[in-house]
Amino acid sequence: MSQKTILVVEDERPIRDMLAFNLGRAGYDVEAADDGRQARSAIANRCPDVVLMDWMLPDVSGLELTRQLKRDPRTRTIPVIMVTALSDEDDRVTGLDAGADDYIVKPFSQRELLARVRAALRRGSASDDDVLTAGRLRLDAASHLVTVGEEAVSLSPTEYRLLEFFLRHPGRVYSRSQLLDSVWGGNVYVEERTVDVHIRRLRKALTPFGYDTLIRTARGAGYRFSPGKV
Ligand code: CA
Repeated sequence: MSQKTILVVEDERPIRDMLAFNLGRAGYDVEAADDGRQARSAIANRCPDVVLMDWMLPDVSGLELTRQLKRDPRTRTIPVIMVTALSDEDDRVTGLDAGADDYIVKPFSQRELLARVRAALRRGSASDDDVLTAGRLRLDAASHLVTVGEEAVSLSPTEYRLLEFFLRHPGRVYSRSQLLDSVWGGNVYVEERTVDVHIRRLRKALTPFGYDTLIRTARGAGYRFSPGKV
């Protein structure tokens, strides 16, 4: 098994060093960030397998950072474990509502920490290796390859993410603004018309295979992916 990377986001140096030391000793490759900005750049550089997220950070709360990661299709499958001194049940629920996958309260034992990291890795790897299909159209989320039979479908990164989103959410109508939130990420400013442009490109890429009709226009409402039409 390849070495897994854990990103530790923690501004208190003694805790960060202790976490990094123990995770390193357990065989993980550890990256550390001491605020939200560093965490974002570490993630953009190299996608970690698990994020250990402190609640209170100097620039952005760990909660808000978790929300951002879970809104972005490129990062939303990364398991996030919130690490905090707050033990109140309301706070735990708030963390889970923000999209955190698990929760660990300080002080915790190293055994508990390692058990939670292992559990997060087990859950995380299932979604990474997804193969999504509609008819003969096949999207391999691990390799980012889209194929129809033996033939590769060439897509730009945005069209790829759009197709992945549709394959994961078939049958439902999504408005342009919902697609912008889910596929582009809520914190970028893009005009709604941009969605139409990328839908057009995605349909065009699928046309030679006869799969352009998978993406239906719901007049005045948005778009729907209909695998039943294959
Ligand atoms: Ca802190």
